[in-house]
Amino acid sequence: MSKLKTQPCPECGGEMRYEKHADEVSYQGHTRKLKTLGWWCSKCGESILEGAALHATEKAFLELKAEIDGVLGPDEVAAARERLGLSQRRAGAILGGGPRAFQKYEAGSQAVSVPMSRLLTLLANDPKRLQELPGAPKAAKRG
Ligand SMILES: [Zn+2]
Repeated sequence: MSKLKTQPCPECGGEMRYEKHADEVSYQGHTRKLKTLGWWCSKCGESILEGAALHATEKAFLELKAEIDGVLGPDEVAAARERLGLSQRRAGAILGGGPRAFQKYEAGSQAVSVPMSRLLTLLANDPKRLQELPGAPKAAKRG
């Protein structure tokens, strides 16, 4: 199958090609460049993104936003949670946010709040303090 990857642009009727194209995300005057795979119009610059590409763009935006806002980014949230030895579901139950919260933070589809970010930072630096929270896995009883 060697199908030519073009289609007409819905905006201007120009030729759209399916390719990796220079793109950027911006937040509060800061921008970050990335390459995004999708349909790009060679005439007007319109793009049509789907699935994985759309998601990668959202994640890049959240990473930038996290940096500007001074909170943990998606991969840092995952690293902190793993340090605590918690599943995503368990982390949401113990630290707050609900069963799907950490899945969203780590996938880059939802920004972590400032308080959650700071709580994770403190706990990741001193994981044994997790035991002070209700619902946390208990360490073996000391005899
Ligand atoms: Zn166009």
